[in-house]
Amino acid sequence: MVCGEPTSCTIITYAMKKQFVANWKMNPGSVKEALGIARASDYESVIVCPPFPFIPAVSGIVKRAELGAQDLFWERKGAYTGEVSSLQLRGLGVRYVIIGHSERRYIIGETDEVVEKKFVAALRAGLVPIVCVGETAEEKRAGRAEEAVMRELRAMPARSRFVVAYEPVWAIGTGIPDRPEDTERMVRVIRSRVPRGTSILYGGSVTAANLRSFCDHSNIDGVLVGGASIRIHELRRMIHIIGTYDRTE
Ligand code: PEP
Repeated sequence: MVCGEPTSCTIITYAMKKQFVANWKMNPGSVKEALGIARASDYESVIVCPPFPFIPAVSGIVKRAELGAQDLFWERKGAYTGEVSSLQLRGLGVRYVIIGHSERRYIIGETDEVVEKKFVAALRAGLVPIVCVGETAEEKRAGRAEEAVMRELRAMPARSRFVVAYEPVWAIGTGIPDRPEDTERMVRVIRSRVPRGTSILYGGSVTAANLRSFCDHSNIDGVLVGGASIRIHELRRMIHIIGTYDRTE
């Protein structure tokens, strides 16, 4: 609310765009390619998450997009060979950090406890965690998808500011996205457990061809895209499409 003259108050509302998180994973192979992808990603409501070595170069390119990291370690400094801290990320202009991606849970072996420590470290440093949750194929078959997602969410403190990415593990990198109506159902369940206003995204084999089917659901606040986010032609099409959608608060 903005008040000028004592008698006249104007309510100003800002339409927020749906969010597009680009998770480059361990790609591309060179700084030159990274810069090309960064240039094509430089739009509002885009969060670019390059691998650590490319963050300084990408930071010099993006003006409208925001910078994210794909992971962090929970300590701020010290003898932790190979790890990267929130302090170091903040120093590079990073604002968001992906936490608990399924590739880290199931390939690297991160537990819910590790994910929680990283979540707390990110918040303490003033970074916005993008927490990935999602059921495995086995959990889905057993009818335990909701239970799995709730277990992963349980560790997240109730009143903090974060983003949730609902990413069914079986949909990531497989070319088989979730059915948007099933996503919508799960997003509704997640929304009942997180602070009001939390942004909830969908991730898992999103492409320009299926993006609208997720964005058409007002309850889905955007997408987290892996493989397709580094294919420049596809990326451009997706950013154009998502730019036509507003988030409803
Ligand atoms: C991801 O990296 O979280 C992801 C959703 O990947 P993809 O879009 O390739 O399925």
